[in-house]
Amino acid sequence: VLVVEGLGKSFGDHTVLRSVDLRVRRGQVLAIIGPSGSGKTTALRCLNGLERPDAGRVLVGSDVAVDFSRGASRTQLAALRDSSAMVFQHYNLFPHKTVLENVLEGPVVVQRRPREEVTAEALELLGRVGLAEKRDVYPFELSGGQQQRVGIVRALALRPTLLLFDEPTSALDPELVGDVLGLIKELADEGWTMVIVTHELQFAREVAHEVAFIDGGTVVERGHPDQVLRDPREERTRQFVQRLL
Ligand code: ATP
Repeated sequence: VLVVEGLGKSFGDHTVLRSVDLRVRRGQVLAIIGPSGSGKTTALRCLNGLERPDAGRVLVGSDVAVDFSRGASRTQLAALRDSSAMVFQHYNLFPHKTVLENVLEGPVVVQRRPREEVTAEALELLGRVGLAEKRDVYPFELSGGQQQRVGIVRALALRPTLLLFDEPTSALDPELVGDVLGLIKELADEGWTMVIVTHELQFAREVAHEVAFIDGGTVVERGHPDQVLRDPREERTRQFVQRLL
């Protein structure tokens, strides 16, 4: 459902991504791991057009195909943005909007779906993550774990083809990490297609169908989680994994 080929991105003369190739089948989970500054977040942001790559192709489902090497049109970029939803490291909720308003914003304002229908769906999703009674509170009144669950509900409410997670638990207090990882695992079991940038290698092993190790802006190694995390082929992967496990 996702094909990424030859993705390249520089900021000025600083090349952050060099020819990144990734592939995710429908219903599968790809975990991206790698050292700080290796380009993981940038790669994820390129997948949904938050960052504009300089080169490469991104295909999502059968409807979205953007070739950045040829210059992407506005319509193509809009379709790319629509095809996925991002869950951010720092939640990125609108601070001046309530929980429910945060969830409604995308579907109602951007996707122009009927407010009543979306509200019913949003409340059901909030109920599912145990936050129905928080619908009218503001993000600052919630714990980090609760805010991130709202962030996940907000992404689900967009009904995206792809869910993208950018280090979804790295800003959380340790005792709140488990809840959020548990929720992401549930979504994986339900068959959502996901790309997850994470430092939680144990979690990556449990949830991912494939792990990609990115270093220096390229995919150094990718494969089955057990292989990449337990028995890496590349020396660079081995060193990284040994440090974290
Ligand atoms: P981390 O695990 O620390 O989040 P990462 O692998 O996600 O790291 P990126 O955030 O993708 O790495 O950053 C890769 C490099 O690109 C870094 O050197 C960063 O400084 C640079 N970079 C990212 N965004 C920009 C930007 N908007 N302008 C200039 N440089 C940027």
